[in-house]
Amino acid sequence: MAGKFEVPDGWVLQAYQYAIDPTQAQAAAMESHAGGARFAYNTMLRAVKANLDQREAERSYGITKADLTPTLPWSFQSLRNDFNKRKHRVAVREDGTPWWGENSKEAYANAVKNLSVALKNWEDSRRGARSGPRMGFPSFKSKRSTRSFAFTTGGIRVEADRHHVSLPRIGTVRVHESTRKLARRLEQGTARILRATVRFERGGWRVSFTVVVKRGVGRRAHTKRLAPVVGVDLGVKDLIVAATPEGQEVLRVRAPKELQRASRKVRALQRKAARQQGRWDAVAKAEQEPSNGWLRTQQSIAKQHVRVANLRRDRLHKLTTLLAQGFDVIGTETLAVKNMMASGGARKRGLNRAIADAGLGAFLRQIDYKTSWYGSVRVRADRWYPSSKTCSGCGSVKAKLSLSERRYVCDCGLVIDRDLNAAINLARYARSEQSACFANGGADRKTTAPAALVAVKPESSNGSASPQGEAA
Ligand SMILES: [Zn+2]
Repeated sequence: MAGKFEVPDGWVLQAYQYAIDPTQAQAAAMESHAGGARFAYNTMLRAVKANLDQREAERSYGITKADLTPTLPWSFQSLRNDFNKRKHRVAVREDGTPWWGENSKEAYANAVKNLSVALKNWEDSRRGARSGPRMGFPSFKSKRSTRSFAFTTGGIRVEADRHHVSLPRIGTVRVHESTRKLARRLEQGTARILRATVRFERGGWRVSFTVVVKRGVGRRAHTKRLAPVVGVDLGVKDLIVAATPEGQEVLRVRAPKELQRASRKVRALQRKAARQQGRWDAVAKAEQEPSNGWLRTQQSIAKQHVRVANLRRDRLHKLTTLLAQGFDVIGTETLAVKNMMASGGARKRGLNRAIADAGLGAFLRQIDYKTSWYGSVRVRADRWYPSSKTCSGCGSVKAKLSLSERRYVCDCGLVIDRDLNAAINLARYARSEQSACFANGGADRKTTAPAALVAVKPESSNGSASPQGEAA
């Protein structure tokens, strides 16, 4: 367990997630493990915080550095050893009988591991050694925090019947969908489970296996190659539009309709719930026992949410596989999803929702690892590359293009669908990046664009036809 696990060459990390159906006793054991994990996390966080506060106070009295109370080390090993010493004192009932033995020690160990990582992130972020958003000091987990715990060793198994998994202490639990894909890989020896995380999410328990998987490259031979280079625009209205550098649209996939249908259904259910007796009595301004009908409606709402998530995941996977298998070079933009979703405004909310709904962050992640599986290459345009604002006909760049403008209209006479225009630009960008890369001896295939490249001119000089005519 010491040291960081390195993924061997030719293997990749992958997660397999399943909804599980525990018996009442198993659900109780899961609650207990989640509670134990939270307890270990909070106990050690309290200890670290008390230590930091103590040192801070001593410093304010002018005590010299050498005489300060020593820092409580927060490496995973030290936190775990420390907790193991404390648990005999703190993880006991009021009558003094210990309860810590009721849960697997793995639940405690992985909880303090999470704490150790959170503390390190906070420290690195404070010292400026960590990029990305500033990480705050870890906060205590409340009873309302997500219930979860993890195993990294012990009897973690996917059972041969494809419908059960076994976990230490919890036992053999039924799984909703078939575990066929993972089970087959484990049997063939092309996968190894590193970790099982159990979590209560969207109204049910789920288990997520972190797995190292051996990938075979070259299976692209079976699949039809659609085009050598393609650009993919992640639109707001359309989920994706793919086009070749020559201006031909090869793929257009609409934003998921099932989501709209399902959200309508959820809203209808929510209206229904509003007519039923819920937890809150608005007239008396007091909590009340909800009716059985209301509880049933809440269950239907949760179920509907799960269904949508599954449909969307399935669709996204098919799409990214198709792209990674069908094209050699895939140019995408680097959508700063987080930034776009961070700020509000009435107009933005609609956009935020569309982005969140379509799962574009997940889309980009999948493209990343699937291109590595299938031997294709993803070329990311620089964040500031104006793929939408550049005219794919003449190469001029507009100063502004509002989100409501669905067509790109240029002074050169080109009128083209906005997303298609962007996809063509990204395809050309990817092609030029790719040739530059091979000219350099092919090093660093997964290159990102140089920061200086802001307005690349599309190749209009060689007399290529206007994309307008070709995009039938
Ligand atoms: Zn133009």
